[in-house]
Amino acid sequence: MPNIPVPVLEAVCAETFERVGCSREEALRVARSLIGANLAGHDSHGVIRVPRYVDWVKSGDIVPNQTIAMLVDTPALAVIDGRYGFGQTVAPQAVRIGVAKAQAAGLAAVSLRDAGHIGRVGEWAEMAAAEGLVSIHFVNASGSILVAPFGGAERRLSTAPFCVGIPREKAEAVILDFATSIVAEGKVMVASQGGKTLPAGALIGPDGELSTDPAQLYGPLVEGGPRDSTKGRGAIRAFGEHKGSGLAFMCEILGGSLTGTKATHVGRKKFANGMFSIYVDPKRIDPEHVFDADVGRYIAYFKSAKPVKGVKEVLVPGEPERAMRAERMKNGAPLSDETWGAICGAAKRVGASAPKV
Ligand code: NAD
Repeated sequence: MPNIPVPVLEAVCAETFERVGCSREEALRVARSLIGANLAGHDSHGVIRVPRYVDWVKSGDIVPNQTIAMLVDTPALAVIDGRYGFGQTVAPQAVRIGVAKAQAAGLAAVSLRDAGHIGRVGEWAEMAAAEGLVSIHFVNASGSILVAPFGGAERRLSTAPFCVGIPREKAEAVILDFATSIVAEGKVMVASQGGKTLPAGALIGPDGELSTDPAQLYGPLVEGGPRDSTKGRGAIRAFGEHKGSGLAFMCEILGGSLTGTKATHVGRKKFANGMFSIYVDPKRIDPEHVFDADVGRYIAYFKSAKPVKGVKEVLVPGEPERAMRAERMKNGAPLSDETWGAICGAAKRVGASAPKV
């Protein structure tokens, strides 16, 4: 498993995106965002996505260098059409609008429809937190029906991520960011390419039997072959039994139906993320200025719980990503041979220079 230095990864990914029509600025932004997911430990949303993004640009599913369209613009609300631009281009635009509105009004909602894949949602909560804002994000991944609802053995949901960001005045933001499926689809992809194996019961077969075999999602696996989720007959399971399945349902409704992206349905041609976000300015909602100190107090109390056997310490959301980032910034991002091979293959196919490691 090669450890690819960050500058090498950035060079090959950015050149690949430039070759399919992204401006240099966009190519670097997408590359850095994907690498950021690897550094945070979310390989499922990192550079493993490069070949798929390239295919999406070629098929017209993602439009390079796209600009957003503002459909509704009131002091506390923005409805934005991402027009299938790269998620890494249109999501930060939507966040900047939400931040500006919340700073002016104390509270804002931003509805982003039809964005290309927005990657690690936590990146957008981190962006809002850096401006001192609390943010809540309900996301659906329309056109990607992968997850069985509680009690069901058939796909009806996307992996529909949910995310909350809490800014801290003198500490790193607290970021809760997860797919509402037991694992994100990319983690099944990582497992199918020789990466970390899936947790028990992450998948369910059409017969209702629990499984960890990525072939349930992709059909029979061929080394180096594409991972096409339409080929498998199984599903990923929603996390947290009926509660997680209910949260996933609400991500479909808020991130999908409410934004105009539409909740996941059969027959959709293009993949799109829909994101419904709420931004709150603690400075406006908390005139006595107790919020930050109380968050700090509560974190300490939460973490003081005696750890169970085999666990070193109780962590708050965002801590695992921070620790991983520190480690990988130093040592590089480990990629399976197959993933690295697929990235180099995509680079070569579009005429980017073959990387040397
Ligand atoms: P995950 O299961 O690793 O959970 C991550 C969350 O749990 C983080 O908030 C993390 O800080 C917290 N966490 C992890 N271990 C912890 C521990 N031991 N103690 C306390 N907290 C802990 O994440 P996932 O569900 O695999 O999602 C991975 C990424 O995929 C996310 O960034 C998500 O936004 C992204 N995603 C994106 C899409 C999309 O369509 N754009 C779809 C699905 C998922």
